[in-house]
Amino acid sequence: MAEKICVAVRVRPPISQETSFGTFWRVEDNRISLHKLHGTPISGLSYAFDHVFDESCSNSKVYELLTEDIIHAAVDGFNGTAFAYGQTSSGKTFTMNGSSNDPGIIHRAVNDIFQKIQMISDREFLIRVSYMEIYNEEINDLFSVENQKLQIHESLERGIFVAGLREEIVNNAEQVMKLLESGEVNRHFGETNMNARSSRSHTIFRMVIESKGKDTGSSGDYSSSDAVRVSVLNLVDLAGSERIAKTRAGGVRLKEGKYINKSLMALGNVINKLSDGAKQRAHIPYRDSKLTRILQPALGGNAKTSIICTVAPEEVHVEETKGTLLFASRAK
Ligand code: ADP
Ligand code: MG
Repeated sequence: MAEKICVAVRVRPPISQETSFGTFWRVEDNRISLHKLHGTPISGLSYAFDHVFDESCSNSKVYELLTEDIIHAAVDGFNGTAFAYGQTSSGKTFTMNGSSNDPGIIHRAVNDIFQKIQMISDREFLIRVSYMEIYNEEINDLFSVENQKLQIHESLERGIFVAGLREEIVNNAEQVMKLLESGEVNRHFGETNMNARSSRSHTIFRMVIESKGKDTGSSGDYSSSDAVRVSVLNLVDLAGSERIAKTRAGGVRLKEGKYINKSLMALGNVINKLSDGAKQRAHIPYRDSKLTRILQPALGGNAKTSIICTVAPEEVHVEETKGTLLFASRAK
């Protein structure tokens, strides 16, 4: 029995002062509904998910309800992936990276993992982290700027892996946060404000958690604690899902848009197939994009997956929000 994919929607607070939240989208329990459009009340557009978080929801709550299980399972040897999906400025990075007074999912996951493994006295742990970006279907290492255009390989011992990607062995949460900060600098390298590359690329923060039972001495008890366990955890901040108007975008912009659409569509297809229980043994098109290929080992099977779809509350974003809710519905 494959794991169910957990799907949530999060509405961020309004950014501009003139627009008030609640006018266009209404959140009640685990349901989000389009309430008014152009000042006119409407009915019928309503979606339910595993969770719907309104503007007052903190990262700590999101973590608790959506990610904590995945993190704990990862420590126990199960692969997992958590995504943030949504248009640019809807709150993906806020959810993953957080702010100084409300740390995001990545920070909380890292702290949680180190806390958890300290409490497990009968196993030894080795933790490695890596951080990569997929920009225009090219994989770049965010821990090492000279590591660009990396290739995906597959081998018997390693399974699917990104060749040459830097992996750092880490012993505590502070070390990981320092590495991530340096990665963030690389992520924003050379970007201009209008065409921010960070919103045109997918970023994957990966932790590989390896553990083996400590030598229990002469008891000769080969319990399951002796087996080596390796799990992969991916925390993914996806590229902005907004459609780029064909008429106004040219050159670089259009090229980026095509790659983003292609990979988000591939992701949608993979997730849709995985969540469609009846067709579990159907062909899953992991090879349709670098994103899905890299994530393949930690999607499906007994891996745990959650998707947080972030939406902007403003009326000007209604069409994109509908698109995001449609993506979220297909993932259920
Ligand atoms: P994205 O990564 O999807 O492009 P951001 O995470 O950068 O969007 O969010 C856009 C802006 O909105 C940022 O200034 C961010 O701090 C703010 N923001 C997003 N979500 C929230 C939230 N839930 N609470 C408070 N501020 C938020
Ligand atoms: Mg962002």
